[in-house]
Amino acid sequence: MEDYRSKSFWLESLPQTITPNPGLSGSKKTNVVVIGGGYTGLSTGYHLKQLQPGLEVSVLESDICGYGASGRNGGFSMTLFGLTKGITKFRFNDKKAHSAQAYMEDAVDYLHDFIELNQIDCDYEKSGYLLVGTSPAQVKRIEHDFKIMEDWGLKGVEHWDRNRLKDEFNTSFYKIGWFEKRCGILNPARLAREMKRLAQEKGVVIYENSPVTDFKKLSSSKFLVKTGKGEITADYLVFATNAYSILFPQLKSIQRPVFTHIVMTEPLSDYQLDAIGWKNRAGIEDARDLIHYYRLTKDNRIVMGGGDVSLGYGSQLNRDLNEKTFSHLQNHVLEIFPQLKGIRFTHKWGGPVSVTLDMTPVIGYLGENKKAIFSMGCLGHGVSMTFTNGRAIAEMICKKETQRTQMFFMGRKIIPWPPDLISYGAAHAIRGFMKMEDAILYK
Ligand SMILES: Cc1cc2nc3c(=O)[nH]c(=O)nc-3n(C[C@H](O)[C@H](O)[C@H](O)COP(=O)(O)OP(=O)(O)OC[C@H]3O[C@@H](n4cnc5c(N)ncnc54)[C@H](O)[C@@H]3O)c2cc1C
Repeated sequence: MEDYRSKSFWLESLPQTITPNPGLSGSKKTNVVVIGGGYTGLSTGYHLKQLQPGLEVSVLESDICGYGASGRNGGFSMTLFGLTKGITKFRFNDKKAHSAQAYMEDAVDYLHDFIELNQIDCDYEKSGYLLVGTSPAQVKRIEHDFKIMEDWGLKGVEHWDRNRLKDEFNTSFYKIGWFEKRCGILNPARLAREMKRLAQEKGVVIYENSPVTDFKKLSSSKFLVKTGKGEITADYLVFATNAYSILFPQLKSIQRPVFTHIVMTEPLSDYQLDAIGWKNRAGIEDARDLIHYYRLTKDNRIVMGGGDVSLGYGSQLNRDLNEKTFSHLQNHVLEIFPQLKGIRFTHKWGGPVSVTLDMTPVIGYLGENKKAIFSMGCLGHGVSMTFTNGRAIAEMICKKETQRTQMFFMGRKIIPWPPDLISYGAAHAIRGFMKMEDAILYK
């Protein structure tokens, strides 16, 4: 069995032992099979049982619930959709970009309320999200998106100038910021494991250590899903496999995995914390192409992620570690907060995010009869989004029309990634371009 705790600080520090549920064996029947036990899969299962308690729902997870991005991410619950508001507006239109913002605001609020209502112990702090500009070009980019939000009449987003930023932080690094107070930070693995518990309490059957190896249509209304040791038939099939969807040939062209990495410091002393400021503890991102994202943990460590990404060839998923990026991230902590010179870095890890060619999420169907559903492409912005996407998928299966099921990215036409060699070249070219822009413009 894999050492799951080694996959992130969050998994390592789970208070309870990680004992996987028994895997699928023999032949079983159910109404809905969900493949993947991250936020998307667990939220889909939970909401299906909430909407239709009589429905039989099974989740098949290859490892343990929270093994993927859901157990390794930065823990920002935020409203970002796609890359930036400006790009979403350009790619679709103003109305759709605005509706995406509304979807995400609802997603952040819903996750917050869900955690409170169910008393989920995942260190949620409603400390807000701060997007900072650290160079003139980043300032321009933030001003541009801020103007879009002003035109939408958005409340709840504050414009922070240098003086306001100086009140919060003892660094001269930040030139401008926008602050969104509805957002929060949380412990991602605790959320995933608690979602497993809540889904099971609702009656969802969860099989762990059950990698799906194959699936096929038996008739217009039945699927057969196979794992190494068992098989299960179902009326509906949900692919909640995110970046790992690359392993299914039928889904390969929809998205590609891209790997993002994180380093983490030892806990800061009161003296160190005082020296850097960071009074409101907001989760922070900068406005580069290859963003840095960083935050404090409950025990006052700094989590610093991003700065670059790793790409695998074809279905390669072994890019969790990247020493060059780790070293860049460690240096970046000291670049922003030189007061922390000498701080120890105790953890480093990485994981895959799912990227569509137009860098926009999609919930779609395989086949004509809308009974096999997939959800992908949330980039590094999937914590609140995948939770709500799971809710939307449950509504779609239960034929309940809501604002969520009407969103423009449900069933949207997807631009396919080309075959492996070209995709690999294209992804490297995009990353290279972003790195160059960051070095020249957005540094
Ligand atoms: C390092 C990192 C930092 C991030 N930071 C943030 C952040 O701060 N904020 C934010 O909003 N988003 C962030 N993200 C993105 C966010 O974590 C994801 O969008 C979200 O967790 C995706 O959830 P999911 O359930 O769709 O996928 P996953 O959590 O990846 O779950 C997919 C599951 O499918 C399982 N699986 C794969 N293949 C099979 C198979 N054949 N059979 C059965 N099961 C299978 C996997 O084991 C996995 O558990 C980050 C991601 C990473 C990697």
